[in-house]
Amino acid sequence: MQVVRQIKEMQKISDKLIKEGKRIGFVPTMGYLHEGHISLVKKAKELSDSVVASIFVNPTQFGPGEDFQRYPRDEEGDKAKLDRAGVEFLFIPEAKEMYSTRYQTYVEVTEVTKGLCGDFRPGHFRGVATVVLKLFNIVKPHVAVFGEKDYQQLLVIKKMTEDLNFDIEIIPGTLIREEDGIAMSSRNAYLSPEDRKKARVLYRSLVKAKEVFDSGEKKTYNIVQAVKKMIGSMEGVSLQYVEIRDAETLERVEIVSRPAVIAVAAMVGPVRLIDNIIVGR
Ligand code: AMP
Repeated sequence: MQVVRQIKEMQKISDKLIKEGKRIGFVPTMGYLHEGHISLVKKAKELSDSVVASIFVNPTQFGPGEDFQRYPRDEEGDKAKLDRAGVEFLFIPEAKEMYSTRYQTYVEVTEVTKGLCGDFRPGHFRGVATVVLKLFNIVKPHVAVFGEKDYQQLLVIKKMTEDLNFDIEIIPGTLIREEDGIAMSSRNAYLSPEDRKKARVLYRSLVKAKEVFDSGEKKTYNIVQAVKKMIGSMEGVSLQYVEIRDAETLERVEIVSRPAVIAVAAMVGPVRLIDNIIVGR
């Protein structure tokens, strides 16, 4: 695996791959990798000739007081994992390589960034859309894989790609869980052993909601109540939102008649976690 730190060098490599007729698959990450990330690499491998991964903890998608400074990092461990998974090129730029001191261009995706995490992390999706667009211009992929773990992010990227006419296929990757059901996340590393146990309530409540749906309840209000009740009864877990949205457009729904995503975010002690489940698919 070749490690690339300069934008110009990455662009040259991609130009060469394209000239050779290779299909480039891309997996952007913030590092501290787990099986969820590796599953995206595997998918990218299936769909392309050459896989490029990136590791970049993007400062513009973190709000003031969020965990940018202490976001977990393990470059050596990450390199070994990506190499083993068959990544050919790893792009790891410095923040100053991506954002010069006089940087002033941002991408705003409107409707789909509203509600859910958009309400609790102002400016977050602006940072995400901006950095992903930059990475697309640097890596020049034919196909890029994004996890369903960050469901709203996946739809933001899809919308941006469509609206700005990028000739890039956006492929969703299945949400990968730990054995006890918790969604894999780099941020799980922040959880104390006690909070780690409490965090299981998120997935348990989503499974409960899916059971309620599968048993015939289609009113989102009633399904949402089931989740609120379960999470509300867990001390030390504070729910930020639970919402049911159309799985394709992320529009609000009152009666579930098409595939929908039930999405939650909660503070578990000091750690913000998100999770979701798809129903009707
Ligand atoms: P991150 O490093 O957290 O920014 O995530 C990089 C990519 O990995 C994003 O497309 C995420 O949606 C995806 N991802 C993170 N956690 C998981 C997971 N548990 N299952 C599947 N994909 C994931």
